[in-house]
Amino acid sequence: MSDSLIKTYGPTPLVEARGLTRYFDVGSGRRVHAVDNVSLSVAEREIVGLVGESGSGKSTFGKTLLGLHNKTAGEVLFKGEVLPAKYRAADYQRLAGNMQMIFQDPYSSLNPRMTVGEIVAEGLRLHAGVSNAMARERVAEWLGRVGLQPDHMSRYPHEFSGGQRQRIGIARALILEPDFVVCDEPISALDVSVQAQVINLLGELKESMGLTLLFIAHDLSMVRYVSDRMAVMYLGSLVEIGRADELYFDPKHPYTEVLIGSNPEPDPELERSRPSTAIQGEIPSPVNVPAGCRFANRCPKVMEVCKSVTPQLIKLRKIDAVEEGSEREVACHLYT
Ligand code: SF4
Repeated sequence: MSDSLIKTYGPTPLVEARGLTRYFDVGSGRRVHAVDNVSLSVAEREIVGLVGESGSGKSTFGKTLLGLHNKTAGEVLFKGEVLPAKYRAADYQRLAGNMQMIFQDPYSSLNPRMTVGEIVAEGLRLHAGVSNAMARERVAEWLGRVGLQPDHMSRYPHEFSGGQRQRIGIARALILEPDFVVCDEPISALDVSVQAQVINLLGELKESMGLTLLFIAHDLSMVRYVSDRMAVMYLGSLVEIGRADELYFDPKHPYTEVLIGSNPEPDPELERSRPSTAIQGEIPSPVNVPAGCRFANRCPKVMEVCKSVTPQLIKLRKIDAVEEGSEREVACHLYT
């Protein structure tokens, strides 16, 4: 792959995916194209929101980035170092202190038979080799940092609300003070009012700890508030990348446009001023990925070329009505 296809932003990319691909064999020689040749980097102290409908490959991308899935092709670099194709136990131990994941479901991601103290301290015991007394002290400190009480450590997950459980999950992931965290739909199982609290908490922790986050979600309006940049994924491929506000208020790719239009905006005044649209049709099967543009069967602006030629992600220019110095990239024949 040529260097021109590698996307880097900001002064220091902390994590880079280069042509990252993950297919799953489903028998009879057929494969699910979950993630297809995705190149994306996240700079230090940056939050990148990765958005798209369910089934677009966002979570698989996050897990493959962290080595929780083996990659089919491509590379992942952390602080400039190419990570091994398959992790050994020693790699997991070394990287777990640096890269962590906050899971989608606060109900099933916490072991119901462990106390909150044991759950939060788990990573600490495995990776840092600290004494019991020190672990208790760190757990109490982290429960406080995520807005819980230190005496909650002796209770069990079922005694907490969804929002509190997600706070426990955040404390568990951040107690090792990782440099990079993938948040996999951390708010989608929560009530709207609790979603805002968890978003605010992550924003505060980003500021106080200098965290770098990949924030995976399908609710663009929430993601926009915490993200510096957003990347839009459709059927395993990136279709648009740009600064969060710029992309949200002036989407260029037809899919981004309908995705934003179909998402309710929590601010009623903004909601009234936005055109609302619904996405037509079904997302094609990731086993039979269509030729040409993957969005062609649902795109309101489809052209003949779209059905046979795959559009590449390219940087937009002033002629495409983006601001000077914009980092917007779009994969669509309307711009080629
Ligand atoms: Fe629509 Fe064609 Fe652009 Fe695909 S390439 S999004 S089908 S206009």
